[in-house]
Amino acid sequence: MSSLRDALAPGAAGTMALDEFARWTIEALAPHGFEPGNALALIGVCRDELMFAIESAIAAEWGAAFDISSLAGMVWLGSSGMAAAAHHAPGLDGRRRYVIVVMPHIGVAEDGSVGLVLRDGQHHESSACGALVGLQQELATGLRRDELDHDDLEMSLLRRDVVADLGPGETPDLVALTDLVRRLASDEMARLADGLVRNADADVAMFSGVVVHHHDEDRVYVADAWVTLRDDAVRRALHR
Ligand SMILES: [Zn+2]
Repeated sequence: MSSLRDALAPGAAGTMALDEFARWTIEALAPHGFEPGNALALIGVCRDELMFAIESAIAAEWGAAFDISSLAGMVWLGSSGMAAAAHHAPGLDGRRRYVIVVMPHIGVAEDGSVGLVLRDGQHHESSACGALVGLQQELATGLRRDELDHDDLEMSLLRRDVVADLGPGETPDLVALTDLVRRLASDEMARLADGLVRNADADVAMFSGVVVHHHDEDRVYVADAWVTLRDDAVRRALHR
């Protein structure tokens, strides 16, 4: 899969149905000693109820997950949240294993319009991801805000992190912004998980992707997937 932009086409090669993706995470990690019952899933997706389906698909394979979700799929659980997760992982065989899934989302309407989805029980399409559509429109006006707003905490954190990553005058479209948020969230999760590897001899797997909502099905685009085993910090790529 070359890029998220390519993955937006209906049935794009390299994308997976939700249950197909969840099953693949099991198959990809089995050779590395991960199996249901000996690993804790950490799932970071947007708060949107549309993401319940991917959470359910992963839970069906790995069991109940530790929730690291925030607005747009960003990761803000911090070291305290990570410390909690660290104490929840199974470890009967002397190893703790974590399966991290980080997935923002994007809608593609039936007519191909990007950023829109028709929700059950509604007549008209609405934006997905709503937070990213709103932020993209704001960035397109040239506005660059980075103050923390306690009445809008997660949105202001999202805006601040994105603005800090943009080059001067750079205005991403929605697809680029979605992929940027995926990368920021994955990097933050990898940074937090690095402490697990060093302090708790953990095995850590990362699946970094985007859920694409088409009018008739959801598909998963995987941008990056790897596993590190406790004795070294080498990222072993996971391929289908
Ligand atoms: Zn969203």
